[in-house]
Formats: sequence, C-alpha cells, structure tokens
Amino acid sequence: MTLVGEVLATGDELIHGALFDTNSKFLAGELERLGVEVRRLTVTGDAPGPMRAAIAEACGRADVVVATGGLGPTLDDRMRDVVAEVAGGPLWFDEASWRQVQDWLLNRGRPVPDSNRRQAMFPPGAQPIANPIGTAPGFAVTLGRGRLFALPGVPREMKAMLAASVLPEVAAMPGLTPLAQQWLRVLGPSEAALGERIERFMVADRNPAVGITASGGLLTVRIVGTAKSAEVAAAACEATAAELRPLLGDWLFAEGAVDLPELVLQRLRAQGRTLALAESCTGGLIAKALTDVAGSSDVLMGGIVAYSNASKTALLSVPAELVAAHGAVSEPVAAAMAAGARARFAADVAVATTGIAGPGGGSPQKPVGTVCFGLADAAGARAWTARIPDLGRTFVRDRAVFEVWRELLRR
Ligand code: ATP
Repeated sequence: MTLVGEVLATGDELIHGALFDTNSKFLAGELERLGVEVRRLTVTGDAPGPMRAAIAEACGRADVVVATGGLGPTLDDRMRDVVAEVAGGPLWFDEASWRQVQDWLLNRGRPVPDSNRRQAMFPPGAQPIANPIGTAPGFAVTLGRGRLFALPGVPREMKAMLAASVLPEVAAMPGLTPLAQQWLRVLGPSEAALGERIERFMVADRNPAVGITASGGLLTVRIVGTAKSAEVAAAACEATAAELRPLLGDWLFAEGAVDLPELVLQRLRAQGRTLALAESCTGGLIAKALTDVAGSSDVLMGGIVAYSNASKTALLSVPAELVAAHGAVSEPVAAAMAAGARARFAADVAVATTGIAGPGGGSPQKPVGTVCFGLADAAGARAWTARIPDLGRTFVRDRAVFEVWRELLRR
C-alpha cells in the first residue's frame, strides 16, 4: 500500500469544453512518479456547490489531493472560500502573502487593486504556498484524511509551485512507498502480439508490474516497481527489463519516457546527421513537432511546406513533367521532393510527404489516406506508399507524421 492521490481541476471553461484540462494529466503523472497511487481525477466548474462536494469527497478518500484553479482575485475565484467552508471556519488574512502579491505587481509597474487582497486570504489551518512567477499564492491544508494542495490554474505557475513546494512535501510524507519506472519503446508488433510475447510478465500483483500502453501507433512496455527505497525499486525494474529485452528483440527501438520527435533528434544527433523536410500533406506538422524540442537546430536544417504543384517545382526542383506524369501524390514525386529538400538545405537526410488527407480528393486508385513518402540520403532517393485508414483528416495527417518517425528511427 502507498499513499492514495486525487486531482481536482476547477473552472467553468473546463466543463464548457472551451479548455482542455491538461493540468490534471500533468499532476497525475507527477504524483505517480513519486509513488502516489492516483485513483481519481475530477473536474468541476466554478459553482461553489459541486466544488465543495468534490473537495470534501476527495479529502475523505485520498491522502494527497492537488487542486488547480479558482485562486485569482475576482469573485468567481472561489477555491479559498469553498475550502474554508469545508474546514468550517472563516478566512484569515496573511500579511506576508499580501506583501508578496503587492511586490510582484509593483515590480512590474502594475497598479495594486484592492481586490488582490483576496489572494492573501486563506482557509483556517492553511499554510500559504508562495507563487514565484505570478500573483496567486496557493495553500496547503489538512482536511480529514487528505492533505489538500490548492494551486493556481495557470499551467506555468502550477508547475513551478508543484516542483518547489508540493512534491518535496509529498515525497517526505509517511506511508509513501518508493517507486521506480522504466519504459521500453516498441515498434512493429500489434498490441496483441506484444502481449502474447511478454504474457508471463503481465500477471496481476507482480512487482515490478509490467503493462502495455498504446499511443499514436507506438507501444510502450511500462515497468513499475515499488520497494523500500527508490534505488531497490529501480534495480528491480532493471532486472525485469533485462529479462524483457531479449524477448522484444528487434521490436525494441528505444528506452525511456522521451517523446518520438525527441528520440528522432537524439538518434540523428548520435549519428552526426542533419535533417531537412519537404512537407505537402503534413503541412509543417513534422517541422512543428521537431522544433517543439528545444535545441533541435543542430539536427534540423529546415523544411519547406510545398503544398501546390507549382511550389513543389519552384522550391524543391521537382520536374513539372514528373508531377504531370504521375500526379502530385506519387512515389516519384515524393522521392524528388526529398532529393530537392536535401540539396536545398545541404542536409544529410531529407524526408518528404505527399498524400491525400481528405475528405475530398480521393480516387479509386488513390483513395483518401494514400500517402507517399520520400527519403533521400547519400545513397540516393527512394519512396514508399502507406494506405492509412480514412478516419478523418487529422488522423491521416498524424499517422503520416508517425510513419516518418518510424522510418527515421528504423535507420
Ligand atoms: P489566476 O490568478 O492567474 O487567475 P486561477 O487560480 O484563478 O489563477 P483560473 O482562473 O482558474 O486560475 O485559470 C487561469 C488560466 O489557467 C485559465 O484561463 C487557463 O488558461 C489556465 N487553466 C486553468 N485550469 C487549467 C487546467 N485544468 N488545464 C489547463 N489550463 C488551465
């Protein structure tokens, strides 16, 4: 047994579908990493009734509850009031927190509205949590079984305060069972085939536990071990990984929790090779994913979104006759696009995509989902075609990007 956790996100924009609740996903991951067993995520609006019930229930069931949102200066920011009601006492005013709120605003040359005083009010028994990068302080308070941490909704502020104040406190809480994790990343088999191969590891109550998660076409074998110390747990995970590696063989292409674009960059960097892109149907998605990774410019030389036929010719030197003879979505054009990008950016490797993402534009010979890929390197240019299921434009384009990762990681 270890500590039980819950996460609570509040805000009208979350329940009206205007904003995706990314805070809960992040918080659940961070708590699990420490060894907290997260059992429930709850989302409520700003209305005090459901918020109050959610806080009271979560603190009745869990040892650690992390809530976000509702700490701003306006009257619809109700976290502190609602927690005070659950705690059964009035809010109190913290002079030190008020000074911090004022200093933060004054240092930025902003006025200090009196309404901001609300942000220095705390429920009975609460300890303020300083906000190093914003005005809204958070707080921690014990309510029944649960230790509740209330943090602002703004993701950057939430993350900074979580790392500085909340995780260190949770890590020191009695009852937390140290935990370690390891990830084996698998490409190739279906989930079922992978499951059969490692069946004997996937039994209930095994420690370390072994499970498979599938995301975006990539499979991950996740090993989670608990022990009396994090080091012992890590050693047990490594022992299980050592047994699994030979079973996975060629399917195993990477280890660790790193995302695919970053893995691609790491792989190319290790090989000392640079990359260029020629994107048609993916419209820059590959470039976006790679440039989301800080420091990618040593590998990624650049990319061209060549969407029209004319731009393929003008920017990537694809002969117009080639397009006329085979169509823009064809292997010869994909190979020529890759060769053109490789030359233009003086890169070691270039990849190209050209396809029919839908909903229109398909034909019996080239239905929606037909995507041609080109790859050019020192050995020349080659191309191949994938028939991606027509499950919508986003699906086809995302799958095409994934196919590029797969190809670059295979090499
Ligand atoms: P502030 O004092 O900055 O207003 P707050 O605690 O009142 O902080 P909210 O007003 O609830 O926080 O949210 C502020 C912003 O933070 C939202 O407009 C939204 O952009 C982002 N945000 C809030 N909750 C979430 C969430 N669960 N996931 C992702 N983003 C969120």
